[in-house]
Amino acid sequence: MNPFARVLLALVVAIGFCAPTQARTLIHAGQLLNPGAGSMQQLTIVVNADRIVAIENGYTQPKPGDELIDLSALTVLPGLMDMHVHLTTQFSRSTYLERFQLGAADVALRAAAAAEKTLLAGFTTVRDLGDSYNVTVSLREAIRKGYVDGPRIYTAAKSLATTGGHADPTNGWRMDLRGDPGPKEGVVNGIDDVRKAVRQRYKDGADLIKITATGGVLSVARSGQNPQFTEAEIEAVVAAGKDYDFHVAAHAHGAEGMKRAVRAGVRSIEHGTYMDKETMRLMKRHGTFYVPTISAGEWVAEKSRVDGFFPELVRPKAAAIGPQISDTFSAAHAAGVKIAFGTDSGVSAHGDNAREFVLMVEAGMNPAEAIRSATLTASQLLGVEDMLGSIEVGKLADIIAVSGDPGEDIGVLQDVRFVMKDGKVYAKP
Ligand SMILES: [Zn+2]
Repeated sequence: MNPFARVLLALVVAIGFCAPTQARTLIHAGQLLNPGAGSMQQLTIVVNADRIVAIENGYTQPKPGDELIDLSALTVLPGLMDMHVHLTTQFSRSTYLERFQLGAADVALRAAAAAEKTLLAGFTTVRDLGDSYNVTVSLREAIRKGYVDGPRIYTAAKSLATTGGHADPTNGWRMDLRGDPGPKEGVVNGIDDVRKAVRQRYKDGADLIKITATGGVLSVARSGQNPQFTEAEIEAVVAAGKDYDFHVAAHAHGAEGMKRAVRAGVRSIEHGTYMDKETMRLMKRHGTFYVPTISAGEWVAEKSRVDGFFPELVRPKAAAIGPQISDTFSAAHAAGVKIAFGTDSGVSAHGDNAREFVLMVEAGMNPAEAIRSATLTASQLLGVEDMLGSIEVGKLADIIAVSGDPGEDIGVLQDVRFVMKDGKVYAKP
């Protein structure tokens, strides 16, 4: 070996020895609830950087340099996943006017606060199904870079609707302000518009596509359930989305619009209020997920009883559709439709996401199934079950803990004591 090579080798060895051994985090879990695996007692979860690297029986003692997190008095679960939120919205009496009062920065800063509340409630991953100003794309990146605290976001950015449809942003505006919004603003009519709108979402940095396949409760329009896309248009959304690895989420209350969406190949039906038996069978055949959002149903039904809260066109829709979702959830669950957890938070308050668990259990799901819907099933909906959805070696370290046993009392999930996302601790008991 020539002298130069020898020096180089010595240098490489020296650097190797000096490199700090990576500190591990050891979590002592009193009880671990993993979807599908039931409950296990007294384990140590070993985290290195953003990953789970080992799960050991008993309480492993830390080596020098290791960090120990003692959750021996708590129940530990995978980070929760909400498949239907709107981080840029917080519905109130003034929501309809806010479009003229709040700019992009106002909406973005409010969304950052909503994101933090969501994370601290134990939700380490969310799917945002409709924003404004493309704010959730910026928020996703700001969270990734550590500028603000929030969940991992998969976003549809601006939803797609047809003219006058549920997500047409100028519904209810006076005639001279309405204009004629197009694909860029999320309003499409016909196949060419659909392709342009999907490609625009790709350019905007979205992760998936949301369509409003039927009328909706909170838009200023007469029907809350009429079909608003042709089947050919939805097929075009799904086909154009495939080129960009986008799945499609379809808001739908009425059965006809739902069936068109399921047949056209959307990944999930949102709300699904008037889902009939035939639609349930169709969803099982196509493997379509159902995201019920009982929380939103409860919230709009309650507000429909308050004089002046909603515009007059909205109030009867809220009163009729709201209470129906819980019954539909019971029937769909009994029929064996795949259910993924979703709240529509932004209608109900951000941070109250876990209330949905209570409503699901009241409507007939057992606690273990409800937890599975917000972990493993949600990760399957997103196609990230190799990374998220359970506490397993090799997966991302998204870990939460609660006091008590959610398997016995699902309500304890409303009081999350510990939150880790990507191996970083955000709330400590
Ligand atoms: Zn929604």
